Amino acid sequence: MTHIITSLCVRDRGCIDVCPVECMIPGQPINEWPWIYIDPDTCIDCGACVPECPFAAIFPEDEVPSAYTAKGGEYISRADLTGHFEGTNHHGGPIVLDTAKQLEAGEVVDFTPDIQPNYDFFKSGPGYSAKDIDNGM
Ligand code: SF4
Ligand code: SF4
Repeated sequence: MTHIITSLCVRDRGCIDVCPVECMIPGQPINEWPWIYIDPDTCIDCGACVPECPFAAIFPEDEVPSAYTAKGGEYISRADLTGHFEGTNHHGGPIVLDTAKQLEAGEVVDFTPDIQPNYDFFKSGPGYSAKDIDNGM
């Protein structure tokens, strides 16, 4: 098993530094790969990243919610969305996303389609090479 980062991820980077096997990689280019991605072949399922995420975006693979009920106000970020999100990340740097959408209270979201991109990022996407062009965003 592995842990999975879902589209609740807004790249605040709180999780990356705690991973003991350094398998959490910021996606690049951001508009195509807007999250941080977990390498499923390297993740040891330690769970250390989960409490570090202020946006509760990380789940064990078999606990990714298929019917998440939004509290209202939280953002999701997916490559096919076009909304704007700005914030400050865990290191005090800027977050700017143009792949965001703010959820309304009671909106129900299936996050299980977010599982596969964690695999695809390392199989057919940039994978660890994205670290070479990481700009801290
Ligand atoms: S569960 Fe552990 S090994 Fe897997 S990504 Fe999170 S911190 Fe890294
Ligand atoms: S802490 Fe959460 S929101 Fe921040 S990069 Fe990690 S998964 Fe994404």
